[in-house]
Amino acid sequence: MKLAIDIDDTILGFYREFAEFCNERYGTNLTEKQLGLDFFGSLNSKGEIISALRTFLDEGHGYNLKFFEDFRGIFGKLKEDHDLILLTSRSYDLREKTLEFLRENLEDFDLEVHYTFDYLAGKKSFVCKKEDVEVLVDDDGGNALDCAENGIKVFLLNKSWNKDVQHENIVRCDSWIEIIENLEGLKENGD
Ligand SMILES: [Mg+2]
Repeated sequence: MKLAIDIDDTILGFYREFAEFCNERYGTNLTEKQLGLDFFGSLNSKGEIISALRTFLDEGHGYNLKFFEDFRGIFGKLKEDHDLILLTSRSYDLREKTLEFLRENLEDFDLEVHYTFDYLAGKKSFVCKKEDVEVLVDDDGGNALDCAENGIKVFLLNKSWNKDVQHENIVRCDSWIEIIENLEGLKENGD
């Protein structure tokens, strides 16, 4: 099966680290839930949050992000059993840093990474259709609905910021172990 997998807060923890960084640096009171609900609206302007994100990454904090252990544990098997791409809302200019980090942290990392920030209003459904993706794994409610409404199956990781999101093509999962179980179910049903 062809899968597209999001990066931030799907395979590694980002919002919590970034919220802490903003709170220390800018004296804000951000929570990961706020960032998850409305990332670009979480500071005074979209420019401000993008600039904060650049600073966060330029200073190397992005290298301290921690992969979810259950993902690291099954990454090899997932790669063996499925056709995988990574699909992130990060912008293309973060490509070098993103790839370097993935290569350092995931064994034999050789996946294609697609970046949606810069075009078509960041629509992941566009890339999924173009790449014949059958299942998207993501934490973001907007991405999940965008793909679900375009006929793509979505495994949505349960997070405080996506609790209200519902669609018949969205399956909620608590962990990567549950995602694997659901993938096996899809295979058995020939879905
Ligand atoms: Mg994400």
